[in-house]
Amino acid sequence: MSIHKSFLIIGGGLVGLATAYRLLERFPLARITLLEKEATVGAHQSTHNSGVLHAGLYYAPGSAKAKFAVSGIQQMTKFCQTEGIPHEICGKLVVAVSPEEVPRLDELLRRGTANGLKGLRKIEGNDIRKIEPHVNGLAAVHVPEEGIVDYRQVCDRLALRIQERGGNIITRAKVKCLELRANTWLATTTIGEYDANFLINCAGLQCDLVAKLAGENRDIRIVPFRGEYYYLKPAAQHLVKNLVYPVPNPQFPFLGVHFTRMIQGGIEAGPNAVLAFAREGYQLSKFDTRDMLDILLFPGLWRFLRKYPAMACTELIQSFSKTHFCILLQRLIPEIRTTDLSPGSAGVRAQAMKPSGDLVDDFHLVIRQNALHVLNAPSPAATASLAIGEHIVNQLPI
Ligand SMILES: Cc1cc2nc3c(=O)[nH]c(=O)nc-3n(C[C@H](O)[C@H](O)[C@H](O)COP(=O)(O)OP(=O)(O)OC[C@H]3O[C@@H](n4cnc5c(N)ncnc54)[C@H](O)[C@@H]3O)c2cc1C
Repeated sequence: MSIHKSFLIIGGGLVGLATAYRLLERFPLARITLLEKEATVGAHQSTHNSGVLHAGLYYAPGSAKAKFAVSGIQQMTKFCQTEGIPHEICGKLVVAVSPEEVPRLDELLRRGTANGLKGLRKIEGNDIRKIEPHVNGLAAVHVPEEGIVDYRQVCDRLALRIQERGGNIITRAKVKCLELRANTWLATTTIGEYDANFLINCAGLQCDLVAKLAGENRDIRIVPFRGEYYYLKPAAQHLVKNLVYPVPNPQFPFLGVHFTRMIQGGIEAGPNAVLAFAREGYQLSKFDTRDMLDILLFPGLWRFLRKYPAMACTELIQSFSKTHFCILLQRLIPEIRTTDLSPGSAGVRAQAMKPSGDLVDDFHLVIRQNALHVLNAPSPAATASLAIGEHIVNQLPI
């Protein structure tokens, strides 16, 4: 592939932006067109998240998540330092509150160590309270390398740098049709037609539908899981210093509701993981008939619900009931009261599911002759975005 080749990137979230940014570093003369359906870049997952820089604690050694989180947090931190974007490596605690969670903490310690994290240590009792004075726990893992960042500013700065280097970011351009003619992809959007030799699908919550437009089958499908947050009212914010997480349930790729100090100030609690009735369903009431039918007609969903009925019900109950949400938070910080919580934001995770009902745990990229599809890029893909972009560039058939 010559350096004068052209690329069409679909999706202006962190993964699409980071890919365009890394492409222009490697091929400064390439023609890059990034198509984004919304009015601004970063309108979905990339700015509806916890704002955490994940260091790579949780992920199976050797997995893409482990590799790209470890390298990604370094790349993201360096980018923020160079660009003057607010971020802070403040450290986090993962807290075991029941005896059966303690061995799972040991497994996290083993994974984190195998992934190369530095300074990890298991602490107990009073040592927990020295770091987070209001946290209740039998034991905890302290992860000093984790941090917080302003992903909105990261998105905007990446977009600026892409445009300065000659990349073309076109917003309000929803891709409706994709056609491969000879060696050229033609994308028909709501505002016109664009072409390029190589297609990169980074469409997040819509990635399987965009892949279908390009002729891929949809063996695995995006199932949207909404994550809802509460804010801690100012009078309760002293209860959390930095990042406080539970020990995650090993059956799910979600981390469990946690406390996050935000880089802009304030503390968020969440997110839960509720099946959403629309791919971009930020409110409980949002319902999209097409999305809903698509999910309901997918056998994988029913197998998932049969395997994990308790999980699906509990998350739904927490979504309806502030009291239940608060009970979960009280496991970590018993002093929290429902009156300390005010309704916060929400995000929707693009989580790929297999026909068997199993969730796709790792990042999943499919490469064809002239196209690459990012078909599963859930957390920690915001942290890892620059590393994913670098990997995508390395995958190109040059
Ligand atoms: C609640 C929540 C909390 C999270 N917390 C963290 C965290 O703390 N740390 C972390 O590292 N990760 C976190 N994540 C995960 C992280 O936010 C995502 O993995 C990451 O942002 C994915 O980026 P993306 O570019 O793939 O997707 P997106 O940001 O969703 O971008 C996809 C883009 O594609 C566009 N698009 C879709 N279809 C089309 C089309 N047909 N034509 C043109 N454009 C299209 C969309 O408008 C969108 O802008 C969290 C996610 C959620 C939902």
